[in-house]
Amino acid sequence: MSIENLKAAVRNIPNFPIEGVQFKDITTLFQSPEYLKEMSDILYEKYKDKGITKVVGIESRGFFLGPTLAIRLGAGFVPIRKPGKLPYGVIEEKYTKEYGEDAVQIHEDALNENDVVVIHDDLLATGGTMIAAYKLVKKMGVKNIYIDFLIELEDLKGREAFTEDMIVDSLIKFHI
Ligand code: AMP
Repeated sequence: MSIENLKAAVRNIPNFPIEGVQFKDITTLFQSPEYLKEMSDILYEKYKDKGITKVVGIESRGFFLGPTLAIRLGAGFVPIRKPGKLPYGVIEEKYTKEYGEDAVQIHEDALNENDVVVIHDDLLATGGTMIAAYKLVKKMGVKNIYIDFLIELEDLKGREAFTEDMIVDSLIKFHI
């Protein structure tokens, strides 16, 4: 099976949720047992020798593959969530979206200096969400951080939001 097969299984929804957005619907990819297994296998192969201790998933579609990858790696899973969802003490990072501000939070005791982390999300658009997540994880003094996306929308140039020292990878690349 090739990445092209996986790519073909992503459904494009024009003008959702607003005019001008080409929404990448990954439910069509995840509903296939073969594709789900393939994605899990590819991610496992990519990170199996990195010494990952925690997979951090970004709400909500980073929760689709995050825990699966964590189990395969023998690592723990940590959620990054929108404000008001996590019940214990949190660390927060604000970021600017196209319209207005948003924020992400993580439990203050979820990671420590012994952790090697991969942060996973479904899609890289502008990179704003992931940069905020990265800053949160960085604040917790972990050993190393890998950044991983299932999909990258290359034309939006989200890669440019990341600096040279950040290790970024994506599986399926679309122009838009
Ligand atoms: P960004 O912070 O701009 O990189 O946006 C990334 C987040 O927004 C991801 O968590 C995606 O789930 C969501 N997102 C942005 N653009 C799209 C799109 N075209 N299709 C599906 N999800 C998107």
